[in-house]
Amino acid sequence: MNARMNPWLILSAAVPLTALISCSSPKHIAAAENHESLLAQQGTDAVIWQHASAEAHWLYVQGYDHATWKLETNLTAIDAEKQMVDSMEWDRRPLAVIVDIDETVLDNSPYQVSAIKHDRTFDQATWREWTDKSAAKASPGALGFLQYAKSAGCEVFYITNRDIREKASTLKNLQDLGFPDADEKHLLLMEGTSDKTERRERVKATHQVLLLVGDQLRDFDERFKDRGVNHGWDQLNDLHDSLSQYFILLPNPMYGTWRDAIQGKGTDAEKHARVKAWFEKNGY
Ligand SMILES: [Mg+2]
Repeated sequence: MNARMNPWLILSAAVPLTALISCSSPKHIAAAENHESLLAQQGTDAVIWQHASAEAHWLYVQGYDHATWKLETNLTAIDAEKQMVDSMEWDRRPLAVIVDIDETVLDNSPYQVSAIKHDRTFDQATWREWTDKSAAKASPGALGFLQYAKSAGCEVFYITNRDIREKASTLKNLQDLGFPDADEKHLLLMEGTSDKTERRERVKATHQVLLLVGDQLRDFDERFKDRGVNHGWDQLNDLHDSLSQYFILLPNPMYGTWRDAIQGKGTDAEKHARVKAWFEKNGY
């Protein structure tokens, strides 16, 4: 093999000496240099599962079946409450349900598939390319549930951490799929903070909220942002009763607060190092 064909000679010119010392093959050198690729590939199984598995599909159907049952229960409870108190004391605020959008009513797994195909992690520019298409499909069961909620007298509010600049494309996507209340009044996008508490409170100030649906526990309560102690499981105990009555959680193994708690913020190299350290620390 001549020098022009020898991959080691080519790599030796392009790769720092330290990398050559610590790695045993060209393949390892390439991987060590590309932390974004490593992080992207770590999500492969989760994305295949979310995008293609009948299991994921059925969990969504099951979740929305459960949401329908829970909403019926809460509607019945309101009627029963009215029998107990004088009509002057009735809560006459209109009824509402609150849903998140991404991985709750819209399926963005094609974006995640493309990200892995191109060895990329999430970034705003490619995300906007995707949402500008208004092409996400409805999550299984979402449309039927929200149509039922609407027919039962509930307004639907969409509280999402999509950016305010994604308003038009998001409304078009929801409207094209036939989602109820897909208009500016009922779409509360992110304006500055990913904390949805204030937006939830804004809806609760004018409506009786009977149910919330999301793919993150933070879609119900901001206390779930803190995973510093016991992975946030303590918050599950604290909020057990209200979660049981008012919240439906849908599956999303592709991303979320649970993963951010391990990866942290910073560069892809820093995130990858934290994930590596987590695996070194856990297990047996
Ligand atoms: Mg979501």
